[in-house]
Order: sequence, then C-alpha cells, then structure tokens
Amino acid sequence: MSDSFSQSLPPRKRTVLGEQLQPFAEKGELHLQHCGACQQWSYPPRELCGHCLADALSWQLCSGEGQVLSRIDLHNSFEAYFSEQLPWSLLSVKLDIGPVLYVHGEGQSGQRVNVKLQLDAASAPVFRAE
Ligand SMILES: [Zn+2]
Repeated sequence: MSDSFSQSLPPRKRTVLGEQLQPFAEKGELHLQHCGACQQWSYPPRELCGHCLADALSWQLCSGEGQVLSRIDLHNSFEAYFSEQLPWSLLSVKLDIGPVLYVHGEGQSGQRVNVKLQLDAASAPVFRAE
C-alpha cells in the first residue's frame, strides 16, 4: 500500500536525547554527537561519551558515508504503519567516522551507502540509507 492511502503514521516516540535530532532532521542535515575530549563520534545519543566518559558531547554536522554490515527484512509488525509496508528492511551501517547505526533503507552487506537524517511521515527524526 502506498503512503498516499495509508491511514497510519510511524510511532512518534523518541528518547529525550533523540528528540534533540528534530531541528537537524528538519534541515536534512546529519548530526551526531562528537566528544570534545577524545574526538570520537558517538551513537546512540547519550549523556556521557561512551569512549572516555567525558561530558563533552555536542551535536556536530557529519558525513553519512558508510558500509552496510548486515540487513534484515521484517515480515511482521505490531505497528500498523509498518505492517502496511512490509517487508521493512533494516540495515546496520558502520559509518566511516565510527558509529554503527540501525537504519531503514535499501542495500546489501558490504555495499557503500549514505545515511541521511530526515523527517518520517509523522514528522519525527529518522535515519535512512540511500
Ligand atoms: Zn570522549
């Protein structure tokens, strides 16, 4: 079923830190947290750096270039929005800058992709691989 006929929207809930991605998604600019102490990129969003535990994380514009590590296709979902669009592909993508993100998109293991931060149908921030 295409989006134009869908009655459902994707789940809107995000974590408190995940909500901070909203203004970047509205601009279509990929931002991830970067540590000012150890210079490592971080994902998922957190209060302290996962590498050095410094509280020096800030949102920075970054590249979404990376490589698909794995892909799964969901064939069932309890969420109406997803059940209308099955199979729903999920990729784990290792960005060239370090973090691994789980994103919706097309791609196969080993393939190069570009991860974008966009708004989904519910106007919530979501990562997608192109
Ligand atoms: Zn750090």
